[in-house]
Amino acid sequence: PAGTAPAPLQFAVTKNLAAKTTAQREQILQDPGFGTHFTDHMVDVCWSERGGWHRPRVQPYGPISLDPAAAVLHYAQEIFEGIKAYRHADGGVYTFRPQENARRLQRSARRMALPELPEEYFLQSLRELIAVDGAWVPSAPDQSLYLRPFMFAKEAFLGVRPAKKVAYYVIASPAASYFAGGVKPVKIWLSQDYQRAAKGGTGAAKTGGNYAASLLPQSEAYAQGCDQVVFLDSDGNIEELGGMNILFVKKDGTLVTPSSDSILDGITRNSILDLARDRGLTVETRAVSLAEWRDGVASGDITEVFACGTAAVVTPIGALKGAGFEDEQPTGELALSLREELTDIQYGRREDTRGWLYRL
Ligand code: PMP
Repeated sequence: PAGTAPAPLQFAVTKNLAAKTTAQREQILQDPGFGTHFTDHMVDVCWSERGGWHRPRVQPYGPISLDPAAAVLHYAQEIFEGIKAYRHADGGVYTFRPQENARRLQRSARRMALPELPEEYFLQSLRELIAVDGAWVPSAPDQSLYLRPFMFAKEAFLGVRPAKKVAYYVIASPAASYFAGGVKPVKIWLSQDYQRAAKGGTGAAKTGGNYAASLLPQSEAYAQGCDQVVFLDSDGNIEELGGMNILFVKKDGTLVTPSSDSILDGITRNSILDLARDRGLTVETRAVSLAEWRDGVASGDITEVFACGTAAVVTPIGALKGAGFEDEQPTGELALSLREELTDIQYGRREDTRGWLYRL
């Protein structure tokens, strides 16, 4: 019947006989960086049109073999998620609002004509991986284990239609504190020649093509001495950064963030808006034009601008550069205080009154 959780999957576990030793793992965790080291295992579940979700496995981390005609390699039918696991002082491993990531993966799946992974399977896949690789969750301050669930079309077929065979994986990568030397404001490049997404396009889905489309403007940003790009929509409204949402703080304390069908519905952003509301601040989710941003900074009506996402949590924006201009951005206290409240909850230093934590 509708609404009933499916029976749990029965995972077959194959231990990695070449797993890193404790000493090797600890050496990596001394300085994990981001996205370059991976744990010893991965989760792999198959889906087919005829058999649904099947063959759930935890197996040694390693290369996967794909038919050269696999649809993902040609038509980019793939989606992913990003979520962190945190080590608490009690030794337990927790993650943050994973149900939101499960639902977003389902929305991405709908847009990319992939099968929807039931929420319970998503949660189970994270638990299964942590059950074997839990020792990879760092305990140093502000470190975490970044979990990367992803799904792609593996059917070998060159016709353009939704694949009838799909794979779902979860891999994990230890992540250092993003701002090891303290939180530092970033400089943003305004992409005026390139857009990331369009009305009716795939901007709200977490799918590889959106990130591929952001690489050239991101290179332009680096060439301009900037750290990140901010994208506009075709009406000149602010959308988001390549991998983070953007928020504006007004003089009266109001928090404003763009609403659009072509940006990613960020879980960090939504959580920050909840924290702000609970502090009694007004929150507005609406279109923000470039003119409103630039004029607001010039007049003093905007007092802070910051970006947020799972990887960096909260990043103050220190400057906005575009063709022919560079605006210094005001910095204030709110972004950092919201960052602290959020990370205190995530790392178990503050009571989780909203039920956001999930023990893996
Ligand atoms: N926008 C984009 C394009 C992203 O890739 C991300 C990172 N997932 C975000 C926003 C922030 O989302 P979240 O807070 O859920 O990590």
